[in-house]
Amino acid sequence: MGIESGGGFGCKLCGERHVLSLSYSVKAPLAVGAIPAEEWDQRVVITHDQCVVDGKDFYLRGRILVPVIGLEEPFVWGIWAEVSPKNFVRTNERWTAAGRERDPAFPGWLNSQLPVFGDTFNLELSVQTQPVGQRPQFVVVDAGHPLAIEQRDGITLERVEEIAVMMMHPANR
Ligand SMILES: [Zn+2]
Repeated sequence: MGIESGGGFGCKLCGERHVLSLSYSVKAPLAVGAIPAEEWDQRVVITHDQCVVDGKDFYLRGRILVPVIGLEEPFVWGIWAEVSPKNFVRTNERWTAAGRERDPAFPGWLNSQLPVFGDTFNLELSVQTQPVGQRPQFVVVDAGHPLAIEQRDGITLERVEEIAVMMMHPANR
């Protein structure tokens, strides 16, 4: 299906070659994109993993892992979730705590758009802390959501290629 070792496949839509990426990530929550750049200094605190807007809205960066059938390595959506102030503070307190991956999961709400799945703003997630040094994993709560189904059942390499085309050509999805 056009997948070659070394990456790259011929795009059915534009005829160009695209890299077949096993991950897509966004650097900031949607909420930050809505704030004019000149206000960021005053309103936004952001690192690679955490973000606070206006001192009252709290976001964590995490990963949705999707198994790829036939590959060891999963497909990864690197995205942001809004979490409660309490859970944000607790996550911060436990940042370097050994065994933190055994902490109970807590709720989050997707603060990234994945156009492949339509409107994903505020999609409910379960946030599971990982061992120190790893970003939390997000699990889609609504078992019937297309992303939840892919997360549970895995996807084919053909689907990875389809996602790549949609991410390259968002207007044609
Ligand atoms: Zn293309």
